[in-house]
Amino acid sequence: MSAALVPDIQARPAAATAPLAGNAPVELLGLTRAEIAAALVEAGEAEKAAKMRANQLWHWIYYRGARDFSTMTTLAKDLRERLAQRFQVGRPGASRDLKSTDGTRKWLLRFADGEEAEAVHIPEEDRGALCVSSQVGCTLTCRFCHTGTMKLVRNLSPAEIVGQVMLARDCLEEWPSPKDGRMLSNIVMMGMGEPLYNFDNVAKALRIVMDNEGISISKRRITLSTAGVVPMIGRCGAELDVNLAISLHAVRDDIRDVLVPINKKYPIKDLLQACADYPGLSNARRITFEYVMLKGINDSSADARELVRLLKGIPAKVNLIPFNPWPGAPYECSSNNTISQFSEIVFNAGYSSPVRTPRGRDIMAACGQLKSDSVKRSKADILREQQAKEAAAAPMPAVVQAEAG
Ligand code: SAH
Repeated sequence: MSAALVPDIQARPAAATAPLAGNAPVELLGLTRAEIAAALVEAGEAEKAAKMRANQLWHWIYYRGARDFSTMTTLAKDLRERLAQRFQVGRPGASRDLKSTDGTRKWLLRFADGEEAEAVHIPEEDRGALCVSSQVGCTLTCRFCHTGTMKLVRNLSPAEIVGQVMLARDCLEEWPSPKDGRMLSNIVMMGMGEPLYNFDNVAKALRIVMDNEGISISKRRITLSTAGVVPMIGRCGAELDVNLAISLHAVRDDIRDVLVPINKKYPIKDLLQACADYPGLSNARRITFEYVMLKGINDSSADARELVRLLKGIPAKVNLIPFNPWPGAPYECSSNNTISQFSEIVFNAGYSSPVRTPRGRDIMAACGQLKSDSVKRSKADILREQQAKEAAAAPMPAVVQAEAG
């Protein structure tokens, strides 16, 4: 990552996939086939056989959803036992599993280090999208987004990202990978975090999700949404070729600077140029521009006309998102009339401009409402917790404890 790409508040790296110490099992989730093969060799498997065994494991893990090595019956029994001693196929913990009256389901995920993020399943009649998080929290501080108020931020690892899909598949009972009729048919990278600030891990996870011999969700059914990390947009297209969504939300830099502060670094003109250059664009394959409707801020007819002018030449569709409120939010949602008028102007200029139906508002699962209880712990807090743990294990003299506190 070049200096220009480092977010203002540096996200901490994700926990390593492999445990750090002792004989704790190594997590296989999130590894490429080649990495699985290498892990097998390290565990004593012959180099010649490792590649084939890795393919077999891949099938069990990602096609069948197996977690228990003893059920992987195409592998020799003694190998299964050896695998069970060294490896695991995990899932993020789900400390809460909430269901909305409209069928939307939200999991509060809890990772090995105790930090939390959320994933949301949005079912339709005969399909459904999983909204996946890429970070714990978010560094972007968009004014209208609840996640932006979380102070604690770290990148999710490939295992933690792909683990969200695995967990949802478990809960929806979609193993082995069904060919048709899936309720988890689409993936939207629209959960917590900015996916293009964690591109390598997101890319690794999405390549696993797209793999034909496993979860097998095609790139045409995957959409990555970004607030506008301009220098990464080209790579996203060239390396992943997934659908792109842009959180535009304003048509003037002075307003977007406030709503989506990353605009100060990458203004609208640069963002739209990166969109125009996105590999593989055509009328059959358009960029989605997301536009949150904020009363009196960005919702005038003049704004709609300016939006149309800006999008000229880019194969685009516009998704109007009624603002979803959260406690203490500084904005209100535009009226239905205003939203309809805005939509009509964009539609009459030749762009599809649906209004996104809010889903899961009652469980705070709608766009921009995700915020887990993870709170920022200062270095002093972390030190205090560590010392409390150590004190519990081996009581220290009172005077040292007092100093430590
Ligand atoms: N960081 C990425 C991924 C998050 S996607 C991005 O910004 O695109 C979440 C989408 O919900 C974004 O379009 C975001 O701008 C929008 N959003 C955030 N808060 C919202 C709110 N309160 N109401 C409606 N949409 C919101």
